[in-house]
Formats: sequence, C-alpha cells, structure tokens
Amino acid sequence: MIREDFPVLKQLVYGKPLVYFDNGATTQKPMQVIDTINRMLLQMNSNIHRGVHFLSEQSSELYENARRTIQDFIHADLSQEVIFTSGATGSINAIAFSFGERYVQEGDEVIVSEMEHHANIVPWQVMCGRKRAKLKVIPFNETGELDMDAYRNLFSQKTKIVAIAHISNTLGTINPVKEIIQIAHAHGVPVLVDGAQAIQHVDVDVQDLDCDFYVFSGHKIYGPTGIGVLYGKSKWLYEIPPYQGGGDMVDCVKFEKTTYNDLPFKFEAGTTNYIGAIGLASAVDYIRTTGFDGIQAYEENLKEYALQRLQSIPGLTIYGTSRHRIGIFSFLLNGIHPYDAGMLLDKMGIAVRTGTHCTQPVMDHFDVDGTVRASLAMYNTKEEVDIFCAGLERVKKMFS
Ligand code: PMP
Repeated sequence: MIREDFPVLKQLVYGKPLVYFDNGATTQKPMQVIDTINRMLLQMNSNIHRGVHFLSEQSSELYENARRTIQDFIHADLSQEVIFTSGATGSINAIAFSFGERYVQEGDEVIVSEMEHHANIVPWQVMCGRKRAKLKVIPFNETGELDMDAYRNLFSQKTKIVAIAHISNTLGTINPVKEIIQIAHAHGVPVLVDGAQAIQHVDVDVQDLDCDFYVFSGHKIYGPTGIGVLYGKSKWLYEIPPYQGGGDMVDCVKFEKTTYNDLPFKFEAGTTNYIGAIGLASAVDYIRTTGFDGIQAYEENLKEYALQRLQSIPGLTIYGTSRHRIGIFSFLLNGIHPYDAGMLLDKMGIAVRTGTHCTQPVMDHFDVDGTVRASLAMYNTKEEVDIFCAGLERVKKMFS
C-alpha cells in the first residue's frame, strides 16, 4: 500500500492517528525521495556545472537527468524548455517580469481569473503597475466554474497574456484549460497555466494543451520544498530577457556588454537547488513506478466518496460544486468560525487548513471571511474520510 511509503503518516498526533488532509498546502514525502536527498547529501554533494571533478560531474549529470525526467513527465518537446525555479510562485514572478519587460506597454491588458491563488494575481499586478497596464478578471459562477462567455468578451487588441489556474486550490474546480488556450490563441495571445494543484492529480501534456508556459511546485507533488518548474515554449524563452542575473546564466561578461547563456541556463542564475531538482525527479519516478493511472482512479473514487459523505452532513456548505473537480473541499459548518473548527479537528489528530487559502477574491465572491479546506492525496483513505466526518459531527455538537 502506498501509505506505507510515507513515514510522516505513521505518527500519532495528540495520541490519535494522524489524518493529513492539508495536501493542497503541501504533500508528504515517500521514503524514496527522502533516500535520494540523503544520498545526495551523504555521498554526492557538489555544485553543478562548475567543476571538472568526479563529484561535480556526477551531480551535474543527475541534475540534467532530473530535467529530462520532468520533460518526459509533462511531455515537453525539448529539455531546454524545462527551467528549475524555487516553486510555482518563483516561476510566475519570472514570467510576469520577463514577459512584461519584453512585450507589455502602457495601456496593455493581462487576463487572470477570479479564482486565482494570490501567486497568480500579485506578480501580474506588480508588472501592470510598473508598465501602466491593466488587469482584467474572468469571473466564476456560483458552482465555481469560469464564465467562458465573459472570458471571450475580455479580449481586445491590447490583450498580451492570459494567466489561469489549471485547478483551483480553494474550489477544486478543474478549469477547461485546453479550451481557454484555444480561445486565447485565436486572438494571438499566449497563456500561462498555473499547475500547482494539477500536476499531482491529472495528466499534464504541455504539447497537447499547447500552453505557452506551465508552472508548478515540487513540494505539492511529493517532492522537496524550494524547487519548482517553469515550462516555456522555446520560442518565448529565446525572446524574453532573463529574470535574474548571476553565475551560470551568462556566456561572456564584459563591462561594456554581457551576453547570456543558452536555454535553459539563461533562466537559472546562481547555484540552483540541484538537490531539490534531483529529489523532485525522484518523486516523479515514484509516481510513475506506482502507476499514475491507478493513482488517478483511486483519487477519483476517494473524492466521490468524500463528496457524498460531506454532502450528507446537515449544516455543511461546500463552496465550489463543479462536477469537474478534484478532492479539494472548502466548506463552512453551521456558522462555526473556520478557525474554531480547524482547532478542534486538530485536537482529534485531523490536519486541515483554515482561512482564505491565499484566494481572498474567492472569499469576497462568496462573502465569507474564510473556510475550512480539506484536500486529499493519493495516500488518504475512506477510513480517514469517515474519521474526518465523525470529527465534523463532534465539532457541530460542541457548538450546539
Ligand atoms: N498556485 C496555486 C493554485 C497554489 O495552490 C499555490 C500554493 N498554495 C501556488 C500557486 C503557490 O505555490 P508555492 O507557494 O509552492 O510557490
């Protein structure tokens, strides 16, 4: 059973078996990933691309193999299109800066949606502020699905880029990203897809999607923190300037003029988190050897079970009821403050998230201060869903 591979899950919290339902925030790591990172630190650590010696060559090779593992996993055309960053946030900031620098002028427009994580709003706002450009917002409806007619009407001659979540971290909605991309491309506009909540749950084929940029974080796909991916079509990556300057990203440095290195190094200034990248590749290998198809089928079944159990709890309101969804459930219970509910669940050994989930516009949409969020992963079980639902009933009783 997959669960056995995750040591963190075996512990007791306040004397109760841990029920970890905060996977949208970060996932736990399988032993295979922990072993890979340990091995790197114990035997192989050396800075990449900088030494002729044995250890450096070994870690450089593992790092470039990691890039190819990610290329293969997301079906990128070229390994140079895979750039290692610090995470989804780092990737979005890089594109907002570099793309904005090259292509956005005063009066231009950027389209995002009302359900974006702050990481896919604020970097665009910063860039728009710098360039005196404008942010336009695709609204979502009461079930938590994007209003596609409104989206079509947002385009103008001034639209420069669309940035959209593949899956909402609050509503759980799987957005029709392929259609969103087709519509944008019909206007000649590129699309960045924020895959932070998708990469670990659904097949991502960047060529089939035809997205221009795709970003995600390692720690949400059972890999380490501090590592993430920025996929970009090479035609864009050649055109846009680097986000950061430093070692490794240069070809020739002169005080008069500096030239940049080839892709992907142009976007990997300084010492990258190479141990993180190798750890991330190990997480992807783990998923693949476990069988991603089987994982997805299991998660689908678990999600349906959890949804049906949650819907049967009187007084529980779920925010985000799209049929196209994953096992992320944001809800409120009978007017009980989400923080109180979260604290009481914690004492039962149940880890959930409470608050705005870095999506304040979603909270504004529903006119709530925050919600409780339970987010499931491949190692969760129906028994845990039962413990969770019993916990919610207890919380209700304590407040009645
Ligand atoms: N986008 C979405 C949809 C997310 O859920 C998150 C993380 N909660 C992020 C972006 C940012 O990810 P990170 O903090 O790992 O950079």
